[in-house]
Amino acid sequence: MRPIPRSPRFVNGAVSFWYRELGQPRRRDPLGGDTDCDVCIVGAGYTGLWTAYYLKKAQPDLRVAVIDRYFAGFGASGRNGGWLSAEFPGPREHYARSHGKAAMIAFQRALMRTVEEVQRVARDEGIDADLHQGGVRMVATNAAQRERLTREIEHLQEWGYWPDDLHMIEPDQEPGIAVAGATAAAYSPHAASVQPAKLVRGLADTVEALGVDLYEGTNVTEIRPRRGAARPAAVTELGTVYADHVIRATEGYTATMRGLRRDWLPMHASMIATEPVPEHVWERIGWEGREVLGDSAHSYVYAQRTADDRIAVGGRGVPHRFGSEPDAEGATQPHAIAELWRSLVGLLPDVADVPVEHAWSGVLGAPRDWSPTVDLDPESGLGWAGGYVGSGVAMSNLAGRTLRDLVLRRRTDLTRLPWVGRRVRGWEPEPLRWVGTRVTNGLYRTADRRESGSSEHTSRLAGLATRISGR
Ligand SMILES: Cc1cc2nc3c(=O)[nH]c(=O)nc-3n(C[C@H](O)[C@H](O)[C@H](O)COP(=O)(O)OP(=O)(O)OC[C@H]3O[C@@H](n4cnc5c(N)ncnc54)[C@H](O)[C@@H]3O)c2cc1C
Repeated sequence: MRPIPRSPRFVNGAVSFWYRELGQPRRRDPLGGDTDCDVCIVGAGYTGLWTAYYLKKAQPDLRVAVIDRYFAGFGASGRNGGWLSAEFPGPREHYARSHGKAAMIAFQRALMRTVEEVQRVARDEGIDADLHQGGVRMVATNAAQRERLTREIEHLQEWGYWPDDLHMIEPDQEPGIAVAGATAAAYSPHAASVQPAKLVRGLADTVEALGVDLYEGTNVTEIRPRRGAARPAAVTELGTVYADHVIRATEGYTATMRGLRRDWLPMHASMIATEPVPEHVWERIGWEGREVLGDSAHSYVYAQRTADDRIAVGGRGVPHRFGSEPDAEGATQPHAIAELWRSLVGLLPDVADVPVEHAWSGVLGAPRDWSPTVDLDPESGLGWAGGYVGSGVAMSNLAGRTLRDLVLRRRTDLTRLPWVGRRVRGWEPEPLRWVGTRVTNGLYRTADRRESGSSEHTSRLAGLATRISGR
């Protein structure tokens, strides 16, 4: 097997390539002791910062504090694949069962508008995050994937995607992407590429300028609900923040908080970025539309052509660590780097000689039923949003606007969406969840291998994995 071409500047970890490009942000001061505000938000990723942004815009005199253990954008928000898309992660039927199909379709349409909303705010606030709405192209590279992709498009057209929103295209339709062995492709305009760290850094600066107190290097050890006359509070090693509402926006890190270990499974995802791809190679590949690009494998990959003409590609890394301990600095394991590179070169053989310059990983949150939620409990004063399972770039913006309405007690179209107030059972205790995630992952990989042979249909192993995982 060919060795992976590695750049002399290769780095593994250091949070992400996106920060390497940008430089690590200046650190804001930590909390200086006990304090008091109207809304305290724990976690300064997209969820926390969008919530702070919309609250301040709606009610400028509201006192809002955001606390982060490390720095704003340290988590998945500063590490992701930069797909700002209307993709929905969980089974739509879950929401239709509780709220009816029309409510789920309204949710899907709201997500499509969210792709525009993020770009509108970036424009209005002068946040330069390399946003480019080129849409999303999904490709199939064998008969089983083609069958699955075709069925998926038919399915989605019953759930809020009309033909203009998503349709099959000829794999070589111009402007094309030279994907090896593409047997089918689909296109949706509802996606943009983004430089994730630029977006989260820009948001942090924006909310600070609006008057939000942003504390970094401050670890929240406990979130306390309202108890009688005692106000809700975020307890840290440096002091306690009392507020009318405390919002938990810690997605993949939620399992580290007391009492929440089994709520959302921290799933690790890994990425690699190449050196800038030379012009003569781009001439062979095409990709002039700069769509975000995904395949239809069970162990899928997602890629973007970056503003400076690299390819950043992500997939599953070591999905779940025993005991749900998330990783900190984002180093990724050699076999995950090798898998990503093989997938990339499998799709785009023309980049086989382009060196890999950076590898990293991050953690996202997966609820037991793979369906995201947002809620605010008026009794306890506590709110939360997350469990986006890898689709949080757009969804966190929708969550931020929904939390604004819930905090301000507004009944709106957003607070009526079916993910509001949804309760999900927890994950199984260890070692069951570790064994379960390893088995499903193994089954999906074997299914992919079988499908890359002569099989015309989705492997039964994938069906088994889906049943075990409950997805
Ligand atoms: C490698 C990777 C690729 C991805 N690709 C995509 C993609 O292309 N498109 C997409 O839509 N989604 C993608 N996702 C998912 C998406 O990035 C996340 O769903 C989203 O960023 C979650 O935002 P968040 O603000 O809820 O959480 P985070 O960004 O993880 O922020 C949580 C914050 O909470 C802080 N925190 C945690 N615990 C504490 C504590 N005790 N006290 C104080 N602060 C605390 C952390 O430091 C962190 O800054 C990807 C995720 C990963 C990891």
